[in-house]
Amino acid sequence: MMMTALTQTHVRISQLDRTLITAVVLLSSVFPVELFSHTSPAPKGLDGQYSGKQGQVLVVKVKGEEQATELKGTFLSRTIPFFREFRSGEPAGYIGLLGIDMQDEPGTYELAVEVKQGEQAKQLSFNVLVAKEKFAVEHLTLPKEKVDLDEKSVARWKAEQQLVQQALAENSRLKLWHSSFVEPVNGKRTGIFGSVRIMNGKPRNPHNGEDIGAPMGADVAASNDGVVRLTVDHVFSGKGVFIDHGLGFYTMYFHLSEVLVKDGDLVTAGQIIGKVGATGRATGPHLHWGVKLNGARVNPYSLLDLPFKNGTTPPSMVTDPTPETTTDPQAVPIKE
Ligand SMILES: [Zn+2]
Repeated sequence: MMMTALTQTHVRISQLDRTLITAVVLLSSVFPVELFSHTSPAPKGLDGQYSGKQGQVLVVKVKGEEQATELKGTFLSRTIPFFREFRSGEPAGYIGLLGIDMQDEPGTYELAVEVKQGEQAKQLSFNVLVAKEKFAVEHLTLPKEKVDLDEKSVARWKAEQQLVQQALAENSRLKLWHSSFVEPVNGKRTGIFGSVRIMNGKPRNPHNGEDIGAPMGADVAASNDGVVRLTVDHVFSGKGVFIDHGLGFYTMYFHLSEVLVKDGDLVTAGQIIGKVGATGRATGPHLHWGVKLNGARVNPYSLLDLPFKNGTTPPSMVTDPTPETTTDPQAVPIKE
């Protein structure tokens, strides 16, 4: 039985197959290392390392790619666009802004970057260490109807969520901002970005922005250049403005008493877009300032730390393969 099976298998191998097998065996013996390396996965994280806490923005710099036509990063299934850096008018590599979502699990992840130059493409790989941020716990007591919505309000809230999602899906392919980000209102920063919220004794979604206490009617400014993608009057956010800064970068301004811009308006950094109020689900006049960066909910105050001053470019933040300490107090975005 055994012999018969072997003979039949042997018969099926053609002369061509036999030649190929011989060739592979010969090549393997001559170039064993070369053949082996083709079967192993590409090493990861060799091009640099970054670290930051939940809710932070990391500046990723890729140098020596002046001739590249396009760079695209992928981090935790999110796309990270890159833009050109210029120094003295000359192209000097590329920069990408990577947002660590406030709920990204702490750990080490890969940022894969595809560098295209015409038809050619190559892959770069960076390690990104995500450290845990210690978020506050916020206890709120609100009128019952503002927390436990009735059926009609739930339907309204869902429709509003969908509208926002659709509006934010069509982000500009151009980078619309040119200089540093500014604080939208003069007021008291509450430090509750990312806080766990207990409303009327029940845990709710974490707070996805920063609240700034300011008097009713105070001016609210656009934190950078962009286009007004959406103005709303929604059940939770009240009167609000969504500004598209391009390349998947959005800032949001909620609970306004008055909105002074309309959908499609071009705005510049510092331009007054509305007035502080307490519309929607708010306990008193304040500005809720939120940011979405390529789908990641990041601390708006991390924008103020970005090293972009009036068109200058940031220094390289690529670290050497030694992990950067994540206990650096400068890296903590919230001061309590
Ligand atoms: Zn808020």
